[in-house]
Amino acid sequence: MVTASAKASRSVSAPKIRQTQLLIDGKWVDAKSGRTFETLNPATETKIADVAEGDAVDIDRAVKAARKAFESGDWSKMDARDRGKLMFRLADLVEQNLEELAILESHDNGKPIRDSRAADLPLVIDCLRYYAGWADKLKGDTIPIRGDHFCYTRREPIGVAGQIIPWNFPLLMVAWKWGPALAAGCTLVLKPAEQTPLSCLRLGELAIEAGFPKGVINIVPGYGPTAGAALVKHPDVDKIAFTGEHRTAQIIMADAAPTLKRLTFELGGKSPNIIFADCDLDAAVAGTEFGLFFNQGQCCCAGSRVFVEEKIHDAFVEKLVKRAKSRKLGDPLDPNTTQGPQVDQAQFDKILEYIEKGGDEGAKCLTGGKRWGKKGFFVEPTVFSEVTDEMAIAREEIFGPVMSILPFKKLDEVIERANRTTFGLAAAVWTRDVGKAHKIAHSVRAGTVWINCYDVFDAAAPFGGFKMSGIGRELGEAGLANYTELKTVTMSLQ
Ligand code: ADP
Repeated sequence: MVTASAKASRSVSAPKIRQTQLLIDGKWVDAKSGRTFETLNPATETKIADVAEGDAVDIDRAVKAARKAFESGDWSKMDARDRGKLMFRLADLVEQNLEELAILESHDNGKPIRDSRAADLPLVIDCLRYYAGWADKLKGDTIPIRGDHFCYTRREPIGVAGQIIPWNFPLLMVAWKWGPALAAGCTLVLKPAEQTPLSCLRLGELAIEAGFPKGVINIVPGYGPTAGAALVKHPDVDKIAFTGEHRTAQIIMADAAPTLKRLTFELGGKSPNIIFADCDLDAAVAGTEFGLFFNQGQCCCAGSRVFVEEKIHDAFVEKLVKRAKSRKLGDPLDPNTTQGPQVDQAQFDKILEYIEKGGDEGAKCLTGGKRWGKKGFFVEPTVFSEVTDEMAIAREEIFGPVMSILPFKKLDEVIERANRTTFGLAAAVWTRDVGKAHKIAHSVRAGTVWINCYDVFDAAAPFGGFKMSGIGRELGEAGLANYTELKTVTMSLQ
């Protein structure tokens, strides 16, 4: 007999692939060109499915459907509470299908199933519910202007939103994008990342099941320079929300210039994680491991520059290396696995190049540094010490399981060095001194600062970057503003 715990520790089987087409105007269709592209299982480097490859023609069809749905008012003028109800229904359906979606996510992306189950999917559901609750709470102000007038503001949906997302948290990125857009009454066209289209398409099926009117949600998988660029340039798209690399954002900004689209960007980082000697050492070590190695290091807010106060440097490094070595690499569908493969060959190659560069520039590799296994894009958890601020591994985003440890002596010194970057997405500080913690929190130029924790996300807490890490904020009330236009109405009372 198989006991419950034995069952829980067994690998789950590969998922059934239900949907590989484009979602346009409430229907599942092939690309007009008839072309498809392969999506791979990064753990085995084998094909999972052929997915319809949308291009400019399909984007145009999807935008037309979204525009028609927007102008019809079926969604944008629906009673706000009913809009919220549909969003709650979608969240419920995600919850009912959590296991299937978690397996699909891990299969296509390579992330450990334990993370999909315990982190990605619960955060998706929470985000959809959080924004469902906002649908009937968006409101304007009455303003006491001069003269005999009645003046008030309205928050109106921005229109058709184009949403371009990356592959590191496919479903969660959909929730971050759809939640505020739908709550505000926008219609949308989503372009998932070419590496991970499958879970987004399944979510599209659930949206139809939930009862969203046709054309409100459109999904067009395809490549960035074709489908993505067409969405950015389309004159009937009012706003682009993009998450990805800062270099792609630069292209998007230029492409969006002729139509003066509203843009929000959530980009990369090189986040400082600052460990003071007076911290709770074991908590700091555990948080530092999680802050960098979670999701195979494929987090825009990964704590990749670990500044450690000299006095505890050796003790910290010893404990950290032990933890890095204990990470369990393997099949993402095995619940015991804590680290899966990188998403694709390109990421895998880039990470190994950075590791080599780190060694060449004089950093000391304490553990890892190589490919793991013979197939799949696995990289060993890698820790470098003796890293200096000028080295490439301390300046550039690696987006993999590679940690750089940099010693420091003084508070002001570490603040200056933490800020010596073009990025500004996140930071963390570990200390028992409350004053020091807040001094760091106020001085580091980053959109999020964690004190004695890392990667604590909540749908209600805004997230986004200073400097080249982004424009605008997602999540929370701030995230809604991206999807509304503010209208001022003034009436004479005479
Ligand atoms: P990564 O290198 O991590 O894949 P990217 O910024 O290249 O990050 O990709 C994030 C998303 O942006 C993906 O959906 C990708 O297809 C899309 N993308 C890439 N290039 C462009 C582009 N020129 N215009 C619009 N979208 C793009």
